[in-house]
Amino acid sequence: MPAPVPSSLPLTLLQEVFGYSAFRGEQAAIVDHVCAGGDALVLMPTGGGKSLCYQVPAIARHRQGHGVAIVVSPLIALMHDQVGALEEAGVHAAFLNSSLSSEEAQHVERELMSGRLTLLYAAPERITTPRFLAQLTHLQEKGLLSLFAIDEAHCVSQWGHDFRSEYLALSTLHERFPEVPRIALTATADELTRADIIERLALQDARVFISSFDRPNIRYAIVEKEKPREQLLRFIQDEHEDEAGIVYCQSRKKVEETAAWLTGEGIRALPYHAGLDADLRMRHQDRFLREEGLVMVATIAFGMGIDKPDVRFVAHLDLPKNIEAYYQETGRAGRDGEPADAWMAYGLADVVNQRRMIDESPAGEEFKKIQRGKLDALLALAEATDCRRVRLLAYFDETYCDPQGRPLQQCGFCDNCLHPPATWDGTEAARKLLSCIYRFHQNGGQRFGAGHLIDVLRGKMSDKVAQYGHQHLSTWAIGADLSEAQWRGVLRQLVALGHVFAEGEYSTLALADSARRVLRGEVSIRLRVATQAPKRGKVSRSGGTAAKGAPVDLEPAALARFELLKAWRAEVAREHSLPAYVIFQNVTLAEMARQRPQTLDELGQISGVGAKKLEAYGREILRVLDAS
Ligand code: ADP
Ligand code: ZN
Repeated sequence: MPAPVPSSLPLTLLQEVFGYSAFRGEQAAIVDHVCAGGDALVLMPTGGGKSLCYQVPAIARHRQGHGVAIVVSPLIALMHDQVGALEEAGVHAAFLNSSLSSEEAQHVERELMSGRLTLLYAAPERITTPRFLAQLTHLQEKGLLSLFAIDEAHCVSQWGHDFRSEYLALSTLHERFPEVPRIALTATADELTRADIIERLALQDARVFISSFDRPNIRYAIVEKEKPREQLLRFIQDEHEDEAGIVYCQSRKKVEETAAWLTGEGIRALPYHAGLDADLRMRHQDRFLREEGLVMVATIAFGMGIDKPDVRFVAHLDLPKNIEAYYQETGRAGRDGEPADAWMAYGLADVVNQRRMIDESPAGEEFKKIQRGKLDALLALAEATDCRRVRLLAYFDETYCDPQGRPLQQCGFCDNCLHPPATWDGTEAARKLLSCIYRFHQNGGQRFGAGHLIDVLRGKMSDKVAQYGHQHLSTWAIGADLSEAQWRGVLRQLVALGHVFAEGEYSTLALADSARRVLRGEVSIRLRVATQAPKRGKVSRSGGTAAKGAPVDLEPAALARFELLKAWRAEVAREHSLPAYVIFQNVTLAEMARQRPQTLDELGQISGVGAKKLEAYGREILRVLDAS
């Protein structure tokens, strides 16, 4: 007979199996609730520690005779590593997906039906097949179906950016197995998506756990695009040499070009996008996970579920489509809690492109309206002159607070806090620019793009100026006091604010209704002074909540031990065909190198060393440490 989970068991398991001393944040409450058989919806940022929220209850309930936990995950390519990590920790887990031979699949099914498995990972399309549902029913009749964990639950929502129609069928789990507890997890927190998840997965009675979305170790920076590739290269060379990072680009072509260019500049970079042959894509992903210090240049096809802990930066060369996407993508940096950078280069063309993509999409007006609102929020973040973190969190309805719960206006760890940008009163400049567009319109109804507009404002003669006689316009040369770059900045900010829009193949400019109020002087406009981003150097360890034990902090002898431990780990990882961090994370190795434990007992005290790993690797580690 299954027994209830004793209240002390989860913490014991956390320490024994995973080698961690305490739950973080909401984890303890979530684990207790699920262990007791409750349903839960968990909203936690990437890197917050969602996996343990279902793994610990799964292990606890299995020990108490409740049977197997089924984990729904859309990420077939990553199941192997996730299961490998659990087995390394001594937890019997398996996956079922199309990569298995029929013999392998049969073996897993036997393990499943026997009740020996603690966790089974499977893709949603597998779970809702008649065959699999029949197996689940069979387990349920034997009382051996302990838990459903639905990972990446935002995939059920069309508002999320990763909608998967197979997720819709998961409502059947609740209909067929109403007594089996369910935990749904996501890092996407906005209202619409949340409501959608609850409705579509029938989680109305689930307890909702919302964690703080702050990622204190991530430094946010958004710079103005000048020569984006060179800016990116400088950023990587100055601040992240030989470190792992992800560079997001919008198009496949740009991914290829950027990866090739970085490689030519001596950065080890690989491309990843949905247009690459599946084998090659898989190989690149594997290399990124297994090797150190690689840069992945990718479209948004890359990243969901990538749990590599030591990604030191995420760079955007193009604007994502909204803050949710930006937050998810940047959230892939610094899961290990060590300082990491979220860096984006952003310019006029980004604003224009994103607006155009919405306008030209076949979606209905209502949908477009929501999308436009979401884009506007992201543009406001990009143009902001105040703290990025405060704004990001406000977007997720969270007030940024100090540990005593007092609201804060500044984080001290984003570009705007570290180097407050100067602003200027751009009202007059904005009026000049808007009236110039207005004159074009009056003068024959023709529309023009940014280049011509700026030429006219600055009084720069060109063939086009002559052709249209624009040197005779009243707005000719009224803006000679500003440079071309400054005018681009003014225009970008006006487009971002929605006073000007750009349309068609040539991105010609037109006035929005709201421009009238600016022209009449009823709205004043404060603009960022375009500045050369100051050189910043490595992320400082004093900022954020940099965890102790970072490799760079080691004194020389400890650093040498750390390198030996890494070499040893690389061997083991190769033998087990798993990524190195699945064996031990860098922070754990660094702590070993620093403390230099002499006994298995001492080694077992280090965070990240569970009982199984101590048994399997303890002696070898002591030997490596001894030899150094
Ligand atoms: P998420 O799935 O929410 O993005 P993960 O479950 O991958 O996050 O956890 C992020 C990192 O934090 C992992 O390296 C994990 O081992 C670590 N971690 C999670 N919970 C704890 C904890 N209670 N103590 C120490 N480390 C933890
Ligand atoms: Zn800040």
